[in-house]
Amino acid sequence: MTDLHSSVTEHFTQLYGRRPTGVWSAPGRVNLIGEHTDYNAGFVFPFAINRRTVLALAPREDRILRVASSFSADPVSISLDDLAPEALHGWSAYPLGVAWALGQFGAPLDSLSGADVYLDSEVPVGAGLSSSAAIESAMAVALKDVWRLDFDRRTLAQVGQLAENRAVGAPTGIMDQSASLLGREDAGVFLDCRSFESEVIPLGFDAAGLEVLVIDTKVSHAHSTGGYAARRASCEAGAKALGADTLRDVQMSDLAEAAEILDDETFRRVRHIVTENQRVLDTVRTLRSEGPRAIGSLLDASHASMRDDFEISTPELDLAVEASRTAGAIGARMTGGGFGGAAIALVADADLPAVRDAVLTAFDAAGYATPELFTVRAAQGAAREV
Ligand code: ADP
Ligand code: MG
Repeated sequence: MTDLHSSVTEHFTQLYGRRPTGVWSAPGRVNLIGEHTDYNAGFVFPFAINRRTVLALAPREDRILRVASSFSADPVSISLDDLAPEALHGWSAYPLGVAWALGQFGAPLDSLSGADVYLDSEVPVGAGLSSSAAIESAMAVALKDVWRLDFDRRTLAQVGQLAENRAVGAPTGIMDQSASLLGREDAGVFLDCRSFESEVIPLGFDAAGLEVLVIDTKVSHAHSTGGYAARRASCEAGAKALGADTLRDVQMSDLAEAAEILDDETFRRVRHIVTENQRVLDTVRTLRSEGPRAIGSLLDASHASMRDDFEISTPELDLAVEASRTAGAIGARMTGGGFGGAAIALVADADLPAVRDAVLTAFDAAGYATPELFTVRAAQGAAREV
């Protein structure tokens, strides 16, 4: 039993005056490559990480659903009859939104009974590691079990996405929930966001002596909502101008013509998506044919594309990437939605101390706030713990 597991069980018991009947957990994720491609029906390649949300639950006899967390010890309470996106606010919209969204996917909410829930998380908030999907996925697998729903994980990912889109109001894609639900140890989740088909691809980082270093710049993505919406709008406008349903239908070979048709900014947004889709495919192919040490240049190219074409990086993220690479990282890129958050660097074990030092020294010299550095491993997706 992990520390978090026992503390969540203890908090649950203190708060509700009884023991939970089950404990579930779900991980955050790092996106290895494929940024902003998900809502363009493209390819992404994230992995679930060894930092999790742990959720304890016990069913109730009545129709009340109560959720509490380390964010608010006072439970937020709602009747299953009243579940609706408009009725949900703040952090509790994530778990309660999942209950509502399960109903939208066919769970017979009218005939189900409620539950008491307590959750806590070791996924840092707003660092681009998707603490939100970790909550949604933990709640989704827990309610699936206690409500005995016959939903596969692909559907549960869509449930989490619907909760986030409608109950929280964040127009995010399917990637985060898919990684959190489908992840495996030392493997990535290669996901086609058009067909929702996914394949678990071994990363081989452990055998190759590679670490993934997360550099959380601690720069909060305050403008991220507006920036994210603006990028989505550009992608939609670009696809429309090119006569495509989505940018998934635009190929590398179409870019020359796109440059003639589109204004410069829209063209660069489109070029990022089209080349990023290709880089995801190349990463999967390269992992299979040459192994993980060969994917560094694809990570580097992804970062350059986000910095120059999609313009979602920050000076802090650029510095994190640059300093890591100079100190010997195999490859590095910002990860997540951008406008702050974290970068990842793929680093050989032996070079890890030098890369850490180089990043800290560079941030200090630039006068930036000290970033938080930690390594993550590709870990198992959402699961029942007891
Ligand atoms: P991230 O990039 O971490 O997913 P989001 O803004 O999408 O950032 O989600 C963060 C939100 O998730 C928080 O503002 C909060 O509402 C919720 N959240 C994260 N961790 C917890 C927690 N331990 N308890 C309650 N809510 C949490
Ligand atoms: Mg999130």
